[in-house]
Amino acid sequence: MNQYHVLIIGSGPAGLFAALWLERLGVDKIGIVDRYPYPAGGLLNDGKLNFDYRIGIDLDELQIDRATAQGLMEDIKRILTGFPRCRQVTFVNHTKKIQELQEIAREHHAQFIAPEQWHWGTDNGKAVVDYLRGHLKNTDFLLGMEISSITQKGKGYCITGKSDQGAVAFTTKIVLAAPGRSGAYWFRDVAKQLGIEHNFGPIDVGIRLELNRKFYDAITDVVYDPKFIFRTGRHDDRVRTFCTNPGGRVRMENYLQFKLVNGDALSRRKTKNTNFALINTIALTKPFSDTTEFGQMIAKQFFLLGGGKPVVQRIGDFREGRRSSVANFDSTVRQFGICKATCNATPGDISLGMPARIMDNLWESLKKLDKIAPGILHPSTLMYAPEIKFFDTHFPTDRDLETNIPGIFVAGDGTGKSRGIVGAGISGIIAAQGITKKYFEP
Ligand SMILES: Cc1cc2nc3c(=O)[nH]c(=O)nc-3n(C[C@H](O)[C@H](O)[C@H](O)COP(=O)(O)OP(=O)(O)OC[C@H]3O[C@@H](n4cnc5c(N)ncnc54)[C@H](O)[C@@H]3O)c2cc1C
Repeated sequence: MNQYHVLIIGSGPAGLFAALWLERLGVDKIGIVDRYPYPAGGLLNDGKLNFDYRIGIDLDELQIDRATAQGLMEDIKRILTGFPRCRQVTFVNHTKKIQELQEIAREHHAQFIAPEQWHWGTDNGKAVVDYLRGHLKNTDFLLGMEISSITQKGKGYCITGKSDQGAVAFTTKIVLAAPGRSGAYWFRDVAKQLGIEHNFGPIDVGIRLELNRKFYDAITDVVYDPKFIFRTGRHDDRVRTFCTNPGGRVRMENYLQFKLVNGDALSRRKTKNTNFALINTIALTKPFSDTTEFGQMIAKQFFLLGGGKPVVQRIGDFREGRRSSVANFDSTVRQFGICKATCNATPGDISLGMPARIMDNLWESLKKLDKIAPGILHPSTLMYAPEIKFFDTHFPTDRDLETNIPGIFVAGDGTGKSRGIVGAGISGIIAAQGITKKYFEP
């Protein structure tokens, strides 16, 4: 049985940056395990990088101040933007145009954030991962191995799972769980067995809009991935734009019992469309606070309505209260041809699957956004559902990201410590520093 000092579960940005920092700090016998044969996690997707402490980083959750976040972000930036095909797409020194947009947004009761942004594109994903992996000299990659259990053994832990070749088992002094969103549910079960404290955080539920890019270029030419934040009048809820892909495509994410929508862009081949997510943050209280279960119920409902695929509806149909249909989907009479769908979803009725309060909030925000960027509500614009971000199980930790069970640390999106590549990397570094300080420094 292989024995490690630190075993990291998950080879996404949280796991990779943790390994990188552990090596730098002189820790040896490090392993990264991942269920897939290629180490990467979400690094293979799109690669928009937001360098702003307000995006994807929760200072309170990480128990760091702005200056510390800024310092860690610089460390991550030095490494990620060192990849030769990563290019800067938003320059914060475009101050005049950004200020104008901030003012227009304010007039419509919205907040506008313009972070420094870089992008490599999905077609460069594998090259980025190879580049990052090249920074790691002494870490074992244990790939194609799905971990099922973590149990206490002596002063450390025994980790077991399976691979194509059969059962696998390792022992380790320290576990760093960075399983991402796809492993969040699994880790929650393991946490229950180990007595790791956890509770439910909010989730983001909404839609992805796809429109002819000419309606949004005036904004995305200034800020590649613009962040508009709305407070809705009727429910006082928070709705925001997220993950904008100029010239991009809408993509399906496959889960066992449902499908979600997402979006990305290639660096070399652009479409005529832009897509972005519009999501509503939802927190639940007693008697039902399990936001994962709630999100999954919504996702399954759309899965049923769409016959196993997400649902898509034209704004023109939505406004008139009718479902979209295959027969009329590209109707030239109704000017639907102006936006050709890039994702094969089922034409239908979004409002059948979306809870009324969320639908209200999304529509109210869209109408405001249409005043800031006139034309986005053209009849041809597409609304895909569901777009759901499951960042919902929250693990209380100390400032080193150690849970209440000594020797078990957490990082990344799946444990509520980040939302995005840069934030996940930052949480991985904090955990690595904490592990070294507590367990490996003389
Ligand atoms: C289509 C799409 C586009 C995106 N675009 C962007 C973007 O442009 N910019 C951005 O900042 N973010 C983007 N994201 C989000 C980004 O991918 C995540 O925020 C980030 O990858 C989270 O990093 P992580 O290390 O926490 O987890 P992940 O990157 O998800 O890595 C977790 C890893 O853990 C492994 N794992 C889980 N459970 C187990 C287990 N039991 N055994 C073994 N291995 C396990 C998984 O296989 C996975 O490889 C996008 C996501 C998607 C889906």
